[in-house]
Amino acid sequence: MNKQARIFVAGHRGMVGSALVRRLAAEGYSNVVTRTRAELDLTDQAAVNRFFEVEQIDVVLLAAARVGGIFANASQPGQFIYENLVIETNVIHAAYRARVERLVFFGSSCIYPKLCPQPIREEYLLGSALEPTNDAYAIAKIAGLKLCEAYNREYNTQYVSLMPTNLYGPNDNYDLNSSHVLPALLRKAHEARLDGFPSLMVWGSGTPRREFLHVDDLAAATLFVLENDITDGLFNVGVGEDLAIRELAECICKVVGFEGELVFDASKPDGTPRKLLDVSRLAQMGWRASIGLEEGIAATYRDFVETYASTGAAALQA
Ligand code: GDP
Repeated sequence: MNKQARIFVAGHRGMVGSALVRRLAAEGYSNVVTRTRAELDLTDQAAVNRFFEVEQIDVVLLAAARVGGIFANASQPGQFIYENLVIETNVIHAAYRARVERLVFFGSSCIYPKLCPQPIREEYLLGSALEPTNDAYAIAKIAGLKLCEAYNREYNTQYVSLMPTNLYGPNDNYDLNSSHVLPALLRKAHEARLDGFPSLMVWGSGTPRREFLHVDDLAAATLFVLENDITDGLFNVGVGEDLAIRELAECICKVVGFEGELVFDASKPDGTPRKLLDVSRLAQMGWRASIGLEEGIAATYRDFVETYASTGAAALQA
């Protein structure tokens, strides 16, 4: 891909978008275009059309989305389905109208059926029913990847969809009501250590299994797709290994230096029992994740401590 290409990173303040911007800068891409939500509201179709008409964008990285953990998804399904559908249709259709050739759409592993065989292959999509705690979000993301596939078929665009497993890294959401498990436990363990608490509350039974990918690995995979002229299809992006939530909590406590006990709160939902992606499709093309979990959590914890120390707990609320 041309280093002068005009690349629009939609959602550049989020965890994925900010990782993409860092990676593009590190690789020498000099024309990265970003807009804050105040400058361009991606739910406003007319504004999105105008933006694409004037900006001469070559590549879109569509990382703007309403995202959240199990509690936020289960309690605000209307906002999750509406905002994600409208952002995807606005951006993908406006990009096509403005003759943007290449686009990468980011989804999530929760698009796959609740009880599908593990590890999850891309072809299991739509094989059976979704996990009910996040089906509204998943339906919106499935619609987004189908938009890309349909536009490629009908209009010869080159729109690719990446489905990362659970992500973590800098600029994550640390608000305990809407965050995912890894940032939530990182914050809780940090505060428990500082406040000298004897225990740490972990939601659910601790037995569900999840896979965690550092967001810098997702940014690397995205550049791999763009630079290797992968122009169509759906690709899982993960590390190929999972662990139980209890083991994740233990690893986080070790990194943070919290030595109290883990207490499991059975009143909170477990969600889907296991979510491990089969990553062989992208591996066969030559890409693999390179950041190990403990190393990645340690780097994220350093970043968290800097943010936390400079801004305080209130700034961590969504
Ligand atoms: P999911 O992967 O879509 O289910 O989303 P989450 O990352 O929010 O949750 C993953 C698993 O971690 C679920 O079984 C949660 O119950 C469990 N979990 C344990 N402690 C926490 C916590 O403090 N916050 C969140 N969000 N999940 C937790």
